[in-house]
Amino acid sequence: MLHKLFMFVGVLMVFTGMAQAQQAARPPIATTKVDGTEGVYVFRNGNHQAMFVVTSDGVIATDPVAYGRPNGGQQYLEEIRKVTDKPIRYVIYSHHHFDHIAGGKAFKDAGATFLAHWRAKERLEQLKDPHTVLPDEAVPNRGRTIQLGNTTLELSYHGLNHSDSTLVMRLPKEKIIFVVDTLPVGTMPGRGMIDFYPLETEDFIKKVLAMDWERLIPGHPGPGDRLGTKKDVEDQLKLLQTASATMKTLAQQGKCWDTAEKEFQLPEYEKWPGYASGLPFIARRYCGLWGRGT
Ligand SMILES: [Zn+2]
Repeated sequence: MLHKLFMFVGVLMVFTGMAQAQQAARPPIATTKVDGTEGVYVFRNGNHQAMFVVTSDGVIATDPVAYGRPNGGQQYLEEIRKVTDKPIRYVIYSHHHFDHIAGGKAFKDAGATFLAHWRAKERLEQLKDPHTVLPDEAVPNRGRTIQLGNTTLELSYHGLNHSDSTLVMRLPKEKIIFVVDTLPVGTMPGRGMIDFYPLETEDFIKKVLAMDWERLIPGHPGPGDRLGTKKDVEDQLKLLQTASATMKTLAQQGKCWDTAEKEFQLPEYEKWPGYASGLPFIARRYCGLWGRGT
């Protein structure tokens, strides 16, 4: 009996070891072509990712994702160079947060034009981050369409959400959108709640759901690196609505901040990746809304 138990533990240890080895084997950088497209790719560096599109007339890149990674921008460019030698025409920022947009120097040196929502451009000009290339052109609230070679990319703005400068990037032919941070795929939101606009985000999400698309590339890899669907976006909206309603009750009982933050739970989401680490950020933000009016 004891012998069998030792065997079982031994087998378990081998499996655990394999799982660890597999985790360790995940390369820090990966480039993946999106199935069924001619030239749409996801570039991942660590836990951040960006979309790039290879067209017949050049490359449209997005977020350099190189905060705290001095060679990250150069590595991103090298990954693109493994796929094409066409010129890099654009770098488009998803929003103004440095963890997504720092590190674009290599792209600037390669001659790319940098685009961002006007509010991101204004903000970045105030902050002058030494690692972040300032946008050359501002995208107005009415949006902008980029036509390059055989590709159309629509940049649109739908109000406040995870930031005040988020662009939705949509490839109408491919029915793909790239939206960063506002729409996590199958994971809990966390630190992204810090400067998040709760009420406006629900409107934003409804607008995104009404758009014509089938696959969502998120700014952080979802479970198993899968892309998102409208179901994921609906799930995220429901999570936020549940969090909001839960905290509203606690806040209106006069329990914000400390008591409400201790009592706040979202049991339906306990199994979601990032539950424990994300919960305090969600609680804090909704206490700000319902307990303070912010
Ligand atoms: Zn962000």
